[in-house]
Amino acid sequence: MSKNSELINLSFLLDHEKEMILGVLKRDEYLKKVEDKRIRKLKNELLEAKRRSGKTQQETSRVCVHCQRNLGLIFDRGDPCQACSLRVCSECRVVGLNGSWKCTVCAKVAQLRIITGEWFFEEKAKRFKQVNVLGTDVVRQSILRRSPGN
Ligand SMILES: [Zn+2]
Ligand SMILES: [Zn+2]
Repeated sequence: MSKNSELINLSFLLDHEKEMILGVLKRDEYLKKVEDKRIRKLKNELLEAKRRSGKTQQETSRVCVHCQRNLGLIFDRGDPCQACSLRVCSECRVVGLNGSWKCTVCAKVAQLRIITGEWFFEEKAKRFKQVNVLGTDVVRQSILRRSPGN
């Protein structure tokens, strides 16, 4: 039972304090699940949008992959997105601070990653596999596992 040694000693907490913390953890978990679902759905939508646009665009086609608008040969010719290299019109772009732009779908993906902190957690998970395991789980278990003497 070496697992026990990982637990934090929270015996100084009063019962109602423990309950409060457990409540917070539970809510935290719930919110995470809801958020996960929402993000997964968004991702699927984006994937679907990408797939659709990939199919409709042939090399010779002169339409924006996102709004299907016809692109001219001279004016509004559209440009390939730097991220996905699909050709989009000037309306279907999101220009960044440094002047570079992405198509609306790629911009959404990038934004999503920032909002969800996905890149951060990915990095964190890679580097601190151990640390990730600790955290709320340890706190929860520490609270739930009361010493038999009590
Ligand atoms: Zn467009
Ligand atoms: Zn793109």
